[in-house]
Amino acid sequence: MQTHMPTMFLMVIVVSLTMASCTAALWRRQQPEGLGYWTLALTLHGVTFILYSLRGVAPDYLTVVLANLLLICVFSLFSEAMLQFQQQRMHRLWLWWPALVVAPAVLLTPDSQAARVVVVAVLSVYQATLLLTIMLRHRARTVGRGQYFVMAAALLGIATMSYRAIGTALGMAPMLQITSSTPIQMATYLVSCIVMILASMGLVLMTKERTDAQNRTLAMHDELTGLPNRRYSMEVLNRLLAALNRGRQPLSLLMLDIDHFKRINDNHGHLVGDRALKQLAGALRSRLRTQDHAGRLGGEEFLVILPNTSAAGAREVAETLRRSVEQLTSDINEHSPLNMTISISIGICTLQPKTQLSPLDAIELADQALYRAKQNGRNRVEAAA
Ligand code: GH3
Ligand code: MG
Ligand code: MG
Repeated sequence: MQTHMPTMFLMVIVVSLTMASCTAALWRRQQPEGLGYWTLALTLHGVTFILYSLRGVAPDYLTVVLANLLLICVFSLFSEAMLQFQQQRMHRLWLWWPALVVAPAVLLTPDSQAARVVVVAVLSVYQATLLLTIMLRHRARTVGRGQYFVMAAALLGIATMSYRAIGTALGMAPMLQITSSTPIQMATYLVSCIVMILASMGLVLMTKERTDAQNRTLAMHDELTGLPNRRYSMEVLNRLLAALNRGRQPLSLLMLDIDHFKRINDNHGHLVGDRALKQLAGALRSRLRTQDHAGRLGGEEFLVILPNTSAAGAREVAETLRRSVEQLTSDINEHSPLNMTISISIGICTLQPKTQLSPLDAIELADQALYRAKQNGRNRVEAAA
């Protein structure tokens, strides 16, 4: 198939610069997520192809030396962008040595086009592999699917550039003329377009997926204590009650409420009250098992869900929590000389397997037990009948 090479160049230029304007529009100075480097990379890619298209018209130091230097910088910038997105560091030399060697290498091979093509292709393969390595190293910690778009782009780049390097080294002449209309050149330029689109879509998707995940976390957690909030806790309870319906192990709920919390606020101020809430949250986090759930339902009320826990086990956990909160007093006093004590009352409700109870009913049972704990003098644990 014959293709019109100037049109191919124009297509790569238009795609690169269009994608560059899209990523530039998303870039925020306060939120460095690699989009700045990425925009620069896409712009340089467009400029590289403008220079390629001038081959034979403009001087060689522009269309050969500068164009290849820019192409190599494009890949280094992609890696810079990805490292910035991941908030990772790597010695700059790993990223930029190809840019340092490409111009001398091209200048040293003025008479051998084949050697030049091989050098540039090998350097590009190294860079695409580096980008892929950076992505793979952080794969587990990166949310979403956008990362796979970028990885696919890197793999496509590696495949195409390896083919170019090997093909040229083996003397496949059509590889040499970048302005000649051959299937190989056509495939290279098409892949260039696909790589730019795929990788840019990938990075944009990655930033969106990260923001979505952050928003989800914010919507599900209490700002003051960092514990799951009411919405999140109800979701967990719903899920565990459904599992209880199918399972064989009991489930226990603890409703916790700080005693005379209003007095703490009134006597010492809201900031001290807030600190007590944070300390209580810390105590819950450190005392509970990983499978347990602790959340702040609102105000000074907390819900603890203990899967696979009998009534006796739940009482043991509740007593441990109650005692550790009593000891918090000294912690609070240590930081400021306040004569303040803090205690909690706890209501327990244990549900046997196959119990069909709504989350609100289950909480109501624990709440009734909590009410009794308050009635019976506070700083104590009571269980629902
Ligand atoms: P009881 O022993 O019967 O539970 O008495 P209490 O004073 O703890 O209960 P009450 O419900 O009367 O008061 C709860 C107080 O919790 C009132 C409210 O000002 C305070 N509170 C709720 N949310 C916060 C918060 O985020 N920070 C602070 N500092 N106080 C809060
Ligand atoms: Mg209360
Ligand atoms: Mg209270």
